Amino acid sequence: MSARPPRFPLALDRVAPASRSAAAQPARQPPLGDARRGPPPSGLGLDSDGVRARMVERLRAGGVRADAVLAAFAAVPRHHFVDSALVTQAYEDTSLPIGHAQTISKPSVVARMLDLLHDGRSARATGSLGRVLEIGTGCGYQAALLARLGRQVISVERLRPLHEKARELLAALPRSNVRLVHADGRLGHPPNAPYDSIVAAAGGDDLPPAWLEQLAVGGRLVAPMRALGGGQVLVVVDRDEAGWRRSVHEAVQFVPLKSGVG
Ligand code: SAH
Repeated sequence: MSARPPRFPLALDRVAPASRSAAAQPARQPPLGDARRGPPPSGLGLDSDGVRARMVERLRAGGVRADAVLAAFAAVPRHHFVDSALVTQAYEDTSLPIGHAQTISKPSVVARMLDLLHDGRSARATGSLGRVLEIGTGCGYQAALLARLGRQVISVERLRPLHEKARELLAALPRSNVRLVHADGRLGHPPNAPYDSIVAAAGGDDLPPAWLEQLAVGGRLVAPMRALGGGQVLVVVDRDEAGWRRSVHEAVQFVPLKSGVG
């Protein structure tokens, strides 16, 4: 516990056993150029509700605990966010290319992060992620999940084409509590701070000080970060009146957190 934002990189003195496999794997498909997504083409035999329900059961069996998180996965059509050529893989536990050398993270890893965020909130019996800051909108899938778990979602993406594509994809879904911002997410998003929940889908060498400052008292941050010994780990930071407290969890593999916009 400390009264000031902790200094990073963190010493990895409390690495939890690697209970889960690594996150986003390298993309197995070439980047996609087509920004237009629609419902899955007919004739593919994709029973979206059924395959999604089976994905949710696998997530539950894999240790995801929060019913609200599982319900969000059951409700959001992941196939809507991937290229039409990849819809048959949309409910496999794999990362998939979304263009511009980026990937949609695999469901088990997204679920793990949301479960961790939810844990932090349910400990305070609020039941909701409150006001959420997401760093790395990508295709918008996680933002759509967050929209069901939080009151308001601010999602920041540094690459304009992805920001615009996510806007188009999210517009087709019912929730309107998501605000997309094209900016360098390392700076957080001061206008809507403080945030009850902060989640990053890209990992850097450290946790940007802006994220810690913009985390509300009583809030929780979940982000990948470079481990001192190499690779990446999932880091959780809780803030209370006394300061910031962090814990280090399993190894993960997210795309790099980059500076500036593109
Ligand atoms: N949550 C996303 C995952 C996208 S991958 C989804 O559901 O699809 C991570 C994203 O982080 C990429 O789109 C990448 O461009 C973005 N990113 C990397 N560094 C960033 C930064 N500094 N600010 C905002 N976005 C960033």
